[in-house]
Amino acid sequence: MVAPSALVLKCELCGAEAPHRVLRGKIGGKDEIVFEGTVKCPNCGRVSTVVTREPKPIQIPLVVSWLDKSERTSLEFSPEENVAVGEELDLADSRIEVTAVEAQGRRVAAARAKEVATVWAKRIDRVRVKFSVNKGNRGPGPCGRHRPDVRAHRARAVFPVIQGTPPRRSKALSSAVGWSLSQ
Ligand SMILES: [Zn+2]
Repeated sequence: MVAPSALVLKCELCGAEAPHRVLRGKIGGKDEIVFEGTVKCPNCGRVSTVVTREPKPIQIPLVVSWLDKSERTSLEFSPEENVAVGEELDLADSRIEVTAVEAQGRRVAAARAKEVATVWAKRIDRVRVKFSVNKGNRGPGPCGRHRPDVRAHRARAVFPVIQGTPPRRSKALSSAVGWSLSQ
C-alpha cells in the first residue's frame, strides 16, 4: 500500500486542521491501517513525526435508485462509522441520500457500518449541482445542516483528490480527521 501524499491532521503548534504534506512515510498493519511518517503543516510549516491508525474500510452493498431505476453497487465505510437514514454521501460523481438501512435482518434508522447488510439510497444530483456552483465540491451538505459527520466526511474527500485516484469513495478510508499528531 502506498503512503498518501497528504493527511488531514490537526497541527499541535498552530492548531490548524488541514492537509499536511507527507514528507516521508509508510503504510502498514494487518487488521488496521497504520501510517508512520513525517508530515509538514501547511499553515505554520511545523514538521512532525506521526503515527496514525484506523480500522480497515469495509464494503457495504448499496442499492441506488434514480428515477424509476435502481442500481446495485457498494460503498466503503469505516467499520465503526454510523450509517443513518437521511445522511448524504458522495458516490463517484453523484450525491446520494440514504433512504433505508438494513441491519441484522430488519430496517433500522441507523446502525454501525460493520452491522449493516444493505444500504438503500436515492440520487440527489440536482441539489449537488446547484451546490457545486456556489461553493465548489466541499463543505457542509447542500442544505447547510451541520451534522457531526460533516467534518470527517470532508476530510476523507481529501484522500482521493490528493492521490489522484477517482473519488469513488466518499465516506471511507480515512477518518483522518480523528487522527492526532504524536511526537
Ligand atoms: Zn501548524
